[in-house]
Amino acid sequence: MALFGDPLWLADVIRAEGVPVIEVEGWKTRGHGDYRENLGVLGHHTAGGGSNDWRIVLNGRPDLEGPLAQIVLEKDGSVKIICVGVAWHAGRGSWPGWPTNNANYYVVGIEAVSRGTAPWDWTEIQLINYKKTVAAILRKMGKSAAEGFAGHKEYSSEGKIDPAGIDLNAFRRDVQRIIDNPPGTVTPPAPKPPGASVTDDNSPDTAKLQEVFHQVGKAQRVRQVFQKTFYNVKDGNLWPRAGLADIWNEVVWDGYVNPVDVLDGKDDPDINPSSPNVARRGSLVSYVLAIYRETVLTRRDTAAILKHLKGDQK
Ligand SMILES: [Zn+2]
Repeated sequence: MALFGDPLWLADVIRAEGVPVIEVEGWKTRGHGDYRENLGVLGHHTAGGGSNDWRIVLNGRPDLEGPLAQIVLEKDGSVKIICVGVAWHAGRGSWPGWPTNNANYYVVGIEAVSRGTAPWDWTEIQLINYKKTVAAILRKMGKSAAEGFAGHKEYSSEGKIDPAGIDLNAFRRDVQRIIDNPPGTVTPPAPKPPGASVTDDNSPDTAKLQEVFHQVGKAQRVRQVFQKTFYNVKDGNLWPRAGLADIWNEVVWDGYVNPVDVLDGKDDPDINPSSPNVARRGSLVSYVLAIYRETVLTRRDTAAILKHLKGDQK
């Protein structure tokens, strides 16, 4: 049974799932017009990370009038309901079953408070309640996790990266388990902390990858000639993992546009070269190191990494 119109039931279903709800005054009448069919939920991060992020979602930015999403998920796991009318959050993009470039009129936007860069600042209760909130909404809409939930980074054709640091396939699996049970009866497992051991299974390939990870985490003896110039050399020992992280932070930027700067609101020098506030450029090596750094700072899907490594050798 399809649902149409403004989701006035949001506060009730989320509360029934066991998530603390704060109703922001005026939420029932706020928005850029009315919803059409209720097709799902689009997940975001705020790219801020502070306790005032919700005010921007409510009031908007100089270039975009608020509200910018229906829901804000705070770091303490509580949820603020900003509005139930249409909000500007989806932008251009597509997802199976949703109208292309027009999702704002069909899906609920959740802005989760996070800086959005590694090392991730998600809290455990926030990630648990993110899943519970999505599940509560989709159960009411009669949608599965697979058809009803997308991350902005999956939907967007404009290069969005949010919500960053979250494996959305694992996220949907947990959401589906919550949907399949009565409200408030399932709490998904606590997420693994960032930087934990890179282990997804007990396959021989995983053991090999773990050994590589272990090796770069150990101090290595280096020749004396390098001891004055290498990063993280002390008493003749080099720590490769820490050294790579340092190089990434200090490398001379000279080529590609730095995505972290762009995320911080600086202008892309290829689009707006005369801006007084342009993003730095980085070298290719900085990007190789960035990928390495992300891999060691965050627990990753080792099967996928191994697949890429094998693919490169063929
Ligand atoms: Zn977004």
